[in-house]
Amino acid sequence: MSITGKIHSIETFGTVDGPGIRYIIFFQGCPLRCKYCHNRDTWDLQGGKEMTVDEVISDIKKYIPFMVSSGGGVTISGGEPTLQMEFLTALLLEIKKLNLHTAIDTSGFVHLDLMKQILPYVDLVLLDLKHIDPQKHLNLTGVSNEKILSFAQYLSDNEISIWMRHVVVPSLTDQEEDVHRLAQFATSLKTVERIDLLPYHSMGKHKWESMGLEYPLQDLRDANDIDIKKVKAIFDLYELKVIADTAA
Ligand code: SF4
Repeated sequence: MSITGKIHSIETFGTVDGPGIRYIIFFQGCPLRCKYCHNRDTWDLQGGKEMTVDEVISDIKKYIPFMVSSGGGVTISGGEPTLQMEFLTALLLEIKKLNLHTAIDTSGFVHLDLMKQILPYVDLVLLDLKHIDPQKHLNLTGVSNEKILSFAQYLSDNEISIWMRHVVVPSLTDQEEDVHRLAQFATSLKTVERIDLLPYHSMGKHKWESMGLEYPLQDLRDANDIDIKKVKAIFDLYELKVIADTAA
């Protein structure tokens, strides 16, 4: 019998969550409680649509030519994909049988022992490091970053490629001292291929409201090009490759 998992949604032509054209599977369920979460409807592990591994794989097969010709592959995101470890493991094994590139997009708040079992089937980790400071990480996401930093170190020690992602939230994650610490941490790792700076926006607010919930960052403005350039300038000092979405 094929293992089932809870899927929030699927995107068949993603272009930013890994190299080339990506088939992206957003898993349901997340243990974090990020105040700026733009996918509030992914938190509940009981939500979403139930799918079998076979169903997902037969859909993936339709898009193989696009993935292969673009140097792309499959990205498993969320929510937090590692919450459904049995389903994730079975799915990765089947994707690898198709010889496709695999990426997982994770907060890094994971059980390292369990992760060690799946990492042989993962080509790239998109690591969303929300904050380098443990207390500020706790305030922003509801959990400390201790496990996340250990996971990043494990990836580096085991030569697993990382694209580190950081959401620039004005006044919350863009303080100069914190960005320096984050850049220093990224520099200390051997396998960080790039840093993606993602501007905070409040577009996810309507999801909170449609669920009858109050959006936690009511009065916060969106990040603008000036915020992103300021943070990028710090990363540039450390000669890290930074991908930032700004106008010129
Ligand atoms: S890790 Fe992602 S899905 Fe989970 S709460 Fe944070 S922003 Fe939302």
